[in-house]
Amino acid sequence: MSLMEAPANTLVWIKESHCKACDKCVAACPAGVLVMRPAPDSVLGTMIQVAFGDDCIGCNDCELICPDFAIFVADKSEHKFAKLTDESKTRAAAIVENNFRLPAGY
Ligand code: SF4
Ligand code: SF4
Repeated sequence: MSLMEAPANTLVWIKESHCKACDKCVAACPAGVLVMRPAPDSVLGTMIQVAFGDDCIGCNDCELICPDFAIFVADKSEHKFAKLTDESKTRAAAIVENNFRLPAGY
């Protein structure tokens, strides 16, 4: 549960100014919700992105693993989250396999 107030109708959100592009949240997400996007202006050249927010299952793994308090998940008591599907699990594995970026075809 996040201590931050969720933006309207948003299950998971980012504070980009705190993200150091470590990939940990992408690796941890079981539902393939998160990817690293190209960001030429950032230090490492990538930035976290919520690419499939509607598929978030509210597990909080991303928020718990982030070393920089840069990603937040809405409160389960206030929002309805998705269920984990085979499609989401397959996408999660494909994203990790593709060096945390969204593979072609998604
Ligand atoms: S709460 Fe879980 S499913 Fe949702 S983005 Fe974070 S790690 Fe992925
Ligand atoms: S774990 Fe945190 S710092 Fe690392 S990529 Fe994700 S949001 Fe950014």
